[in-house]
Amino acid sequence: MLSTDILIVGAGIAGAGLAAAIDGRRDVILLEQEARPGHHSTGRSAAIFIQNYGNAVIRALSAASRPLFDMPEPEYFPEPLLSPRGILFVAGKDDLGDHEALLAESDGLVPFSAEGAAEMVPLLDPSGIVASAYEPDASDIDVNALHQGWLRKARGKGCVIQLDAALTGARRSAGKWLVETSAGAIEANVIVNAAGAWADTVAAACEVPRVGLVPMRRTMAVLPCPDGYDCRHWPLVSSSGDHWYFKPDAGRLLVSPGDEDPVEPHDAFVDDMVLAEGLDRYQQAVLAEVTRVETSWAGLRTFAPDRTPVVGFDAGIDGFFWLAGQGGYGIQTSPALSQVASNILLGEELPASLAAAAEAMSPRRFPQ
Ligand SMILES: Cc1cc2nc3c(=O)[nH]c(=O)nc-3n(C[C@H](O)[C@H](O)[C@H](O)COP(=O)(O)OP(=O)(O)OC[C@H]3O[C@@H](n4cnc5c(N)ncnc54)[C@H](O)[C@@H]3O)c2cc1C
Repeated sequence: MLSTDILIVGAGIAGAGLAAAIDGRRDVILLEQEARPGHHSTGRSAAIFIQNYGNAVIRALSAASRPLFDMPEPEYFPEPLLSPRGILFVAGKDDLGDHEALLAESDGLVPFSAEGAAEMVPLLDPSGIVASAYEPDASDIDVNALHQGWLRKARGKGCVIQLDAALTGARRSAGKWLVETSAGAIEANVIVNAAGAWADTVAAACEVPRVGLVPMRRTMAVLPCPDGYDCRHWPLVSSSGDHWYFKPDAGRLLVSPGDEDPVEPHDAFVDDMVLAEGLDRYQQAVLAEVTRVETSWAGLRTFAPDRTPVVGFDAGIDGFFWLAGQGGYGIQTSPALSQVASNILLGEELPASLAAAAEAMSPRRFPQ
């Protein structure tokens, strides 16, 4: 039987980031049920960093992540992880309330006129815009480079990565976990639950109470850039109420209906009706017809009831550590979240700027 200090379940951005942040200070096995890491949410994101996104905890983690994105360790990240994009929020009369709330809690959002918005992105129909604002520092993230960099670092520091290996059950006995996986048994001092949409399922398999995580489907479609427009340098454009967004992607347009439908954990696929309704909302905001969808996919954004990640040791079960519920922000918060998770896991002091966020993320906030 294999034996380790820490068994991390899930090799998405969360598990990979934590394995890298542990930095060889403990023996780690990183377990992944799929044949390749990144098959689920991590490989399906919109790859954007937006500071003015999510609740106060998310914003604190994003702000703390930004310098780590801007100056990553060159040994593992030889190319820049961020490239300039910007985000333009536009509100029609129906999402003016959302827009005002966004402005009230934002940092560095520049209010824009409807004409200014349409000048920046000529595809927008100015007649439907009643308010607009621009975040210049929003950036595209090279998610694959980030994920592969974390995995490379983890491996280089001695972490063993087991693919095609699903945790199927675990029980705690004499201060250790005896873990059943589809690739054999493993003994571990600590289990880290970084299983994304399956985090509550993994908890149940370890006889740990669920915390109420809900996977929500989000759809993405790739459309050709409309004839007569050069969309390459546009910012990401989002309705202030998150009812749709689009961003340039390799000469095409990536469009999302902004859907958030609760589903069971699964290998997510597109609901054609949700996509059609979402494209209709997008269509109403722009001046060109949707002629063709080149490709589409869906992924799961998994939220706790308070939309704050769940990070820390379980309150009731020894040696069970949560790293879940990153919702729609798991890539942009990954550098800081990996660091905080590793600090808590190894009993180290937290950066003062993230102590309140760490407290808010504790699994102890859930009733036992
Ligand atoms: C359409 C879409 C757009 C998004 N856009 C952005 C964005 O622009 N910016 C941003 O920051 N975030 C974005 N997100 C959110 C981000 O993708 C997620 O928060 C993040 O990828 C979650 O990472 P994870 O490692 O927790 O989950 P995952 O990547 O899903 O990894 C969990 C892993 O656990 C494995 N696993 C599960 N059960 C077991 C088991 N029993 N045994 C072994 N392995 C198991 C799974 O196979 C999976 O690989 C987006 C998400 C979606 C779906």
